[in-house]
Amino acid sequence: MLSCNNVTFRYDRSGLPVLRGASLELEQGEIGILLGKNGSGKTTLFKNILGIHKPSGGEILFQGQNLTKMSRRERARRIAYVPQDIQFGELTVFDSVLMGRVSHFGLKASHADYEAVEKILQDMGLESYAQRNVAALSGGERQKIAIARAMAQEPKLMVFDEPTGNLDISNEHLIIQEAKKLAREKNISILSSLHDLNQAMNFGDKFFFLKDGVVKYAGGKEIITEDVILDIFDIHVHIVEIENEKVFVGGHIHGNLHEH
Ligand code: ADP
Repeated sequence: MLSCNNVTFRYDRSGLPVLRGASLELEQGEIGILLGKNGSGKTTLFKNILGIHKPSGGEILFQGQNLTKMSRRERARRIAYVPQDIQFGELTVFDSVLMGRVSHFGLKASHADYEAVEKILQDMGLESYAQRNVAALSGGERQKIAIARAMAQEPKLMVFDEPTGNLDISNEHLIIQEAKKLAREKNISILSSLHDLNQAMNFGDKFFFLKDGVVKYAGGKEIITEDVILDIFDIHVHIVEIENEKVFVGGHIHGNLHEH
């Protein structure tokens, strides 16, 4: 469904490439987690998928069509982006979610658009929030609104950049459960970065580990081993099994290497 084939990208013509032939495959309804150190190129890969940057080599296909050749509007009808800490400005929750439908309605929202927003707010248990000002909500609540807005786009794929970065653990858990439920119910794919390995295991079906500009390891939970984590993050962790789930314990930095 989403297929990145040998994507290369550099910010400056003279600079080093950030992506050096990154490839990944995500099927409809799957949740893929992109993992890698800070600066490994996760956001850069997302921005190539979202059309904010154009790959200098390789191709990105979505349902068999070349994403880089699609118009912004065509892309927005397929892919929604949930950035890390979204700032909506002084809008009501209802209007913030309605903004997600811009690629559907063009100049003026129709009755069907209003209905679609009402339905999403209902589905996500946010009806009582409709007339509240988003700027006055907590980080966790705002993140939920960001997901609701992405849902209003009726995308086939949602891209999340560290969706729980600024949240406490209970909100982190809530957002992940919510996103997972939506993905399952509506058969939407999610591609997300996440820095917490345990949350990643809880959220993802498939895992992509980015290092040196390529996806070095890809696959289901079975591919994640202590050696893979050591190679990607330069830390020693222990993986134990609790209730048939892998759990990451401890972790100390390998040799004198420091994560930046
Ligand atoms: P991650 O999301 O994994 O932390 P990024 O994709 O943000 O990584 O960054 C990858 C590399 O690209 C880093 O070395 C970063 O400094 C560089 N980079 C990111 N954005 C820009 C930019 N706008 N101009 C030049 N270099 C950039």
